[in-house]
Amino acid sequence: MKPALIGIPWDEMSSFMRGAAEAPPLIRAALFSEASNPFSESGIAVTRETLHDAGDMEPATCEAMMQQIETAIAELLEQGFQPISLGGDHAITFPILRAFAKRYRRLSILHFDAHPDLYDELDGNRLSHACPFARIMEEGLVERLVQVGIRTMTDHQRQQVERFGVEVIEMRDWRDDWPIDFDTPVYISFDVDGLDPAFAPGVSHREPGGLSTRQAINTILNLNAEIVGADIVEFNPRMDVANLTETVCAKIVKEIAAQMLRT
Ligand code: MN
Ligand code: MN
Repeated sequence: MKPALIGIPWDEMSSFMRGAAEAPPLIRAALFSEASNPFSESGIAVTRETLHDAGDMEPATCEAMMQQIETAIAELLEQGFQPISLGGDHAITFPILRAFAKRYRRLSILHFDAHPDLYDELDGNRLSHACPFARIMEEGLVERLVQVGIRTMTDHQRQQVERFGVEVIEMRDWRDDWPIDFDTPVYISFDVDGLDPAFAPGVSHREPGGLSTRQAINTILNLNAEIVGADIVEFNPRMDVANLTETVCAKIVKEIAAQMLRT
């Protein structure tokens, strides 16, 4: 098994602001930039040799794109890769998980986000970037959904948490030594707005009071589980300040890829 990058430049399901579709080439460039060396904190080199690059998908309109994402991820899984998808907005995670569920009978998600993304629908759209985890849980695609960084819980979404048995570690309750353990393979879904906007300002929905980059990386480094796939979504270059956020995204990708290469 080997990690593989795939860019999904698609932000049609964003409710508030477009721009996340412009993220994949910037994250890639930052990841392989000579401003930094390729070593992860765990001591593993993440290079063009150790990390396969499957390129960027062609954007399409809604239903067609959903199907194409599922097919592209299924093909990478079929070839034995651990796909790391560069969004795009968070709507991509639902079709990605459809492909994963066909491959992994037992799977859990570790979800970093300011938002639970559990709306039944938003503005009449059930495929909105505010809804992917409602769809994933309805279809029973994973055994457990563990959310961290959450700080925008609504009454409706709290009901959805109850309905689906979601495990939420709200930001107000965060402890650096919180034990997050899994006995299944894990998929990491990393919405960049889970981080505090002081660290990652390039997002469409800035929500103060989030995780530091350090806390997020330590959570990934301390995960005692097999990571079989990941996405990094909602980086919006139009909102970035001094190109800070692409560097943060690249760092998160590097640490996740290194964890995949370790196992
Ligand atoms: Mn979010
Ligand atoms: Mn999200």
